[in-house]
Amino acid sequence: MKCIVQGCPGEMEQRRIVHTFVRDGNPIVVEDLPALVCPVCGYTVLDLRVLDTLFALDPETETPVGQAPVFRLPLSLTA
Ligand SMILES: [Zn+2]
Repeated sequence: MKCIVQGCPGEMEQRRIVHTFVRDGNPIVVEDLPALVCPVCGYTVLDLRVLDTLFALDPETETPVGQAPVFRLPLSLTA
């Protein structure tokens, strides 16, 4: 499948990715997510079924398979 980003010549590849999102102010990491990724521009597409499962995940009741340290870089992002 060709990448849908305009002007990008990439072919989407099936990969396993790590996805990070924030829920209630807490970062949550989900690994081993099946996704289509463009190796040229990095455009990522998650399957609808994967998205549904992701949204249904309840971090309060689900047992984590691991812990990840959270860092904040000492950079000023305001010019
Ligand atoms: Zn692309």
